[in-house]
Amino acid sequence: MEQKQFQAESKRMLDLMIHSIYTHKEIFLRELISNASDAIDKLYFRSLTDDQVGIAKDDFCIELKPDKEARTLTIIDNGIGMTAEELEQNLGVIAHSGSLEFKTENAQGENTDIIGQFGVGFYSAFMVAKRVTVRTRAYGSDTAYVWQSEGVDGYTIDTCDKETVGTEIVLELLDDTEDENYGEFLEEYRLRSLVKKYSDYIRFPIRMETTHEHLKEGTEDEYETHTVMETLNSQTPMWKRNKNELTEEDYTNFYREKFMDYNTPLVHIHSRQEGAVTYNSLLYIPSKVPYDYYSKEYEKGLQLYANGVMIMEKCSDLLPDHFSFVRGIIDSEDLSLNISREMLQHDRQLKLIAKAVEKSIKNELAKLLKTDRAKYEEFWKAFGIQLKFGTYQNFGMNKELLQDLLLFHSSSCEDAEGFTTLAEYVSRMREDQKYIYYAAGESVSRCAALPAAELVRDKGMEVLYLTESVDEFALKMIMQYQEKEFKNVSAGDLGLESEEDKSALDAKNEESKDLFAEMQKALDGKVKAIRLSSRLKSHPVCLSSEGQISLEMEKVLNAMPTGEKVQAERVLELNAEHPIFATLQRLYTEDKEKLATYTDLLYQQALLMEGMSVEDPVALSRMICDLMV
Ligand code: ADP
Repeated sequence: MEQKQFQAESKRMLDLMIHSIYTHKEIFLRELISNASDAIDKLYFRSLTDDQVGIAKDDFCIELKPDKEARTLTIIDNGIGMTAEELEQNLGVIAHSGSLEFKTENAQGENTDIIGQFGVGFYSAFMVAKRVTVRTRAYGSDTAYVWQSEGVDGYTIDTCDKETVGTEIVLELLDDTEDENYGEFLEEYRLRSLVKKYSDYIRFPIRMETTHEHLKEGTEDEYETHTVMETLNSQTPMWKRNKNELTEEDYTNFYREKFMDYNTPLVHIHSRQEGAVTYNSLLYIPSKVPYDYYSKEYEKGLQLYANGVMIMEKCSDLLPDHFSFVRGIIDSEDLSLNISREMLQHDRQLKLIAKAVEKSIKNELAKLLKTDRAKYEEFWKAFGIQLKFGTYQNFGMNKELLQDLLLFHSSSCEDAEGFTTLAEYVSRMREDQKYIYYAAGESVSRCAALPAAELVRDKGMEVLYLTESVDEFALKMIMQYQEKEFKNVSAGDLGLESEEDKSALDAKNEESKDLFAEMQKALDGKVKAIRLSSRLKSHPVCLSSEGQISLEMEKVLNAMPTGEKVQAERVLELNAEHPIFATLQRLYTEDKEKLATYTDLLYQQALLMEGMSVEDPVALSRMICDLMV
């Protein structure tokens, strides 16, 4: 018979399996049982609409058969089985190689850990077996096939005899060594505890023939043994179990296995709703961003069960985009089993569930923010940007829901890593403070260094530091929080001066009208206006904007790949108290050419301070050098 080769990927995976450390090897059982359960799920689902299946619900089961003499462990299921093509496809190639590849490549040196905690599938059998034999007959097929492999050298496929539909996997266990006792996987107690540990919630019974000793009738010290077919798992799905019976570890184990994420989740939300719609839910917020989360490949959604039977792997209608990082399961008694995907979209029950799910996620996050700030900030660093996008998207439709979950860096935080909420900001506002101030830039230190931010701080007021591109757009969408408007320190009137100050400044501006006109000519339309500033304290110059688009928004919008360019209405602001202003006044009468050069220099400095690029860095450098010689 022809020996076939594994694909390169699979070969690498096998290699990893075979060389993994012993403590992780036990998970092979979990993997094989979970495959068996999936296969039964498929046939069971089919049996609901197809009379030909001929297996009663209660007869679906998985059996473990340890054989000490032959040194084999066999896992048997009466699930859907595999055709020859499926055998080839499924066991010759690693099914989810995409995610696996990532995990193994990213963890050079710690591969073994990955194996211990990540769902590694069928190949894990080779961690404990020197030869694996799979006999299988697909539902609806008369022919059964046998697949056999001793690991990296490849595999064979042949026809075989098998009476019933389903799959049987025979593991010929590796020989025991000084440190590794594979024979243990033939012991009842060991198998029983492994099933309890990893597969307790599997919906179908996992059975094993076990031996029991008891006193022989009529004697006092003579024992006899008898065997019974025992069911090892409780079969209640995790989400239907009583919260009080479950430990943190149970939740974590379930999460890891179900969602193939070896990290510990940040929080779980386990609840039962009754009323307009009845369902059980078990939701998780991951602690780490999935590697593909911010890519197109990421699919949001919750697993949807209708009364214990899975009907959809990822039901995206159940999760709003702003909570797309949530993983979990919804199991409802109110959904029909044969509902189609198209119908599901319009299903009233489903809409009700989605609304309730959104609310419970929000409440959980709000609770976390209140009770465990450190954990919330961990969450925020991973997924906060998603909430900000959510605030901004759909014309701010969800801003009410999300605004109290948002965090921002701020001048009141002890360090650049610190965060504040909008409510906290408002609680610290001075009585006479009109606005919630913010500065936008690429980092906290950049924002903090803006001259206008300095001025606001000096007046004893707090400044939010917006460091992500979406930030200012989100605030613009919220418009006002607790009736306080947001104010960019680099735009418009900061509302910090008295009426007298204002008219004094107006008068001064009027006096310098001709100077400013001359300077504006020198800048050749690059700025909409030049005026004396009320936002400058120690610095001679800054750039501000008028209108809806701020300088930061201009940067963000122009960086987008749409090709459309926007420009903020720029205003060059000067500090009347700074000696440079006196110089400009003098040059206006003495040396107009020099005035033009200085104006250009000031403008370019202002651009740089705002984190914008100058048009011609070489020309700028030449200008400075000319002044130096
Ligand atoms: P995964 O289960 O993550 O898809 P595996 O490597 O464990 O990856 O299995 C690959 C595929 O082989 C499965 O998706 C399934 O189609 C098939 N398979 C594995 N075990 C069985 C089984 N006991 N019965 C039917 N099909 C199976």
